[in-house]
Amino acid sequence: MRYLDQLADRIDAQQSVNLFRQRLVVDSARFEQIEVAGDRLINFSSNDYLGLAHHPKLKESVSFATETMGVGSGASHLVTGHQDVHRALELKLAEFTHAESALVFSSGYMANLAVISTLVGRRGAVVADKLNHASLIDGAILSRGKLLRYRHKDLADAESRLVGLKGGADLLVSDSVFSMDGDLADVSGLQSLSEHYDVPLLLDDAHGFGILGEGRGIRAHEKLRDNVIIVGTLGKALGVYGAFVAGPQLLIQALIQFARPYIYTTSIPPSMAAATLKSIELLETEPARLQTLFNNINQFKALAKCRNLPIVESDTPIQPIVVKDSARALRISNELRRRGYLLTAIRPPTVPAGSARLRLTLSAAHSFEQIKSLVEELSIVLDLEL
Ligand SMILES: *Cc1c(COP(=O)(O)O)cnc(C)c1O
Repeated sequence: MRYLDQLADRIDAQQSVNLFRQRLVVDSARFEQIEVAGDRLINFSSNDYLGLAHHPKLKESVSFATETMGVGSGASHLVTGHQDVHRALELKLAEFTHAESALVFSSGYMANLAVISTLVGRRGAVVADKLNHASLIDGAILSRGKLLRYRHKDLADAESRLVGLKGGADLLVSDSVFSMDGDLADVSGLQSLSEHYDVPLLLDDAHGFGILGEGRGIRAHEKLRDNVIIVGTLGKALGVYGAFVAGPQLLIQALIQFARPYIYTTSIPPSMAAATLKSIELLETEPARLQTLFNNINQFKALAKCRNLPIVESDTPIQPIVVKDSARALRISNELRRRGYLLTAIRPPTVPAGSARLRLTLSAAHSFEQIKSLVEELSIVLDLEL
């Protein structure tokens, strides 16, 4: 059929510019060790920044909740899928992130679609950083409002977009920690703009929650007011699955009424909510894990500077090595894999054209020895004519 020929052409074109995507099949994983096609590798590409995805206490809470509540929740939140453990998690998330209220979602992708499409109308606009996550762009498309993008972290450019708005239900939105670069937005500057122009601010804290502000996220880290809307994911530093929106009570009530990505989907399994509660308890009672992560970040940066690796300015677990060319990024990634390290190549359109990179992520589960030998291998591989 014709559509298959058309798809084949599009896939060929993708291949010819080195943008063909392939999934790794992971045979097994345990903390930072991962087995892919028989190769045992040290994983420097996971968002499980604290190693919590493999914590025995989280596994235990999954088993216990599954025994008592079942595997699947069986329905959406507005039917019979809103269980006691979801309610308990929402209360805990609100308290933990210093918000009036919180709402649990199936994924960060859907939470972003929900907030943006609920707040922004057809006559409104989404004012967004150019390097925001794809889900924030898709939220703007779903809202049918205009998408106005400003230069990365350029508040004057952001302001020039806000000045021109006509007051048709608008939103200012940014990643808190940029997912492919690891740098932080000027969130207090954004908060000031939001208040001055009376446009709500949404911060996507996917890579801040669990890490910044002793794990409480960007609001605690930068002492932001509770009218700032936060989206956090449970699938990264918390090691589980799902996401949440934290903000004013009225916003949460409106999402329950109007947000289609909230209403028309099955709630997360009760075991995931239970494991997240355990994860937050560990963040509160065992701060050493976070300390280990920051030690690892500092050690990596110091070693990388000694070896003159092309790292960028980032104090978060995301430490990209930008090599620009997509084909070269793939060859370097393959060579590192041959040497026992998993660092996936990230290519456009996930990152801007000409900025392909290895997205290196650090975890509290990495040992000093592993980080040290990675830096040595990286400095050798980056010097090869690949
Ligand atoms: C991963 C990510 C999301 C999506 O979260 P999921 O829970 O994985 O759907 C949203 N925003 C950013 C910045 C992310 O990195």
